[in-house]
Amino acid sequence: MTRELDCPKCPFTPMEPVQLDDLELDECPKCGGRWYDLGELAKSAKEPQKFERACNGGLLKPRPGTAICPHCGDTMTNGGLVSEHLRVDYCQECGGFWLDKSEIRILEDLVQGE
Ligand SMILES: [Zn+2]
Ligand SMILES: [Zn+2]
Repeated sequence: MTRELDCPKCPFTPMEPVQLDDLELDECPKCGGRWYDLGELAKSAKEPQKFERACNGGLLKPRPGTAICPHCGDTMTNGGLVSEHLRVDYCQECGGFWLDKSEIRILEDLVQGE
């Protein structure tokens, strides 16, 4: 399956596939941000069920974002994921998440568990 998705933050910059354990994610070679399809974010967590439960409440303090979903072309919602310190862009259409490079590091701390 080949597909080319543009980075939501860098115009006309296609993301490149990156292999992360058994997940294939899309990463922007320019800004280092990552796209997670629906479900991929939870799978990247050490404890997916716990992580999913934490996400079930939806984003914290959501507000309209500036990023455009690479799948749907819709403006994404920006909000806190699990923690208000981790503000991600979320597409309500397809359920995908966009994380900036600095956010990936915060996420990794969160999903390693306490
Ligand atoms: Zn980018
Ligand atoms: Zn979308």
